[in-house]
Amino acid sequence: MNSSFTLFRLQTQDTLRMKMNARLKEIDRIIAADKEVSQANAKLVEAQGVNKSAESVLKGLLEQVKEKKLKRELTQSNLFSGKVRNPKELQDLQAETQALDRTIAKLEDEQLQAMMAFEETTNALHQAEKELQQVLDRKASQNSLLIGEKHKIESEIPQVDAQRQALIEQLDKEIFMVYRTLLKSKAGIAVAEVNDDTCSACGVTVPPADIQAAKSPNIIAYCKNCGRILVKS
Ligand SMILES: [Zn+2]
Repeated sequence: MNSSFTLFRLQTQDTLRMKMNARLKEIDRIIAADKEVSQANAKLVEAQGVNKSAESVLKGLLEQVKEKKLKRELTQSNLFSGKVRNPKELQDLQAETQALDRTIAKLEDEQLQAMMAFEETTNALHQAEKELQQVLDRKASQNSLLIGEKHKIESEIPQVDAQRQALIEQLDKEIFMVYRTLLKSKAGIAVAEVNDDTCSACGVTVPPADIQAAKSPNIIAYCKNCGRILVKS
């Protein structure tokens, strides 16, 4: 029985299994990370605040205009009531009306600016709401794809594990221990193929005698540079 090739097949399955594990971890991480959502949420909260203060500025101005107009109405009705006859008093009322006219004109200017500002912040608020919804929609479809992928990987794991187990059972216990130790110490790659006379893991040239050994069904050959098990088909 060819230990080297059983080891190589085991290595292939283990590499696949490690990739599956890494992908599962990555999927969990992506699903858990709600950075985009929290950023879009923060933008919305900010837009709400800005819109609210623009609204209260506008409301304040509307109140002031209303109040000044009422005052002007009173002043004018006094002025034209016929009750005030004293020229000095009439003059004062006239002056007051004119002052109120100026104040109202100024406030109405400000009101117009405030209305425009309010409109602008309302648009920004709607935009922020739309963007949050887009992020949420995107995230939902992204997550459902990821969850689908996760379930698929999870469903494939038992088969891979069964294949690994079958291969492990074919191996001599001592050889398997060597393999497992190398797998841990060599970043998950215990077995390397010899390609173009070099070790595919570390890239160092393998001497002809070792290449011959790597081809042999009964000898376990090791890379003299990285220490991994070599196989050559
Ligand atoms: Zn090597």
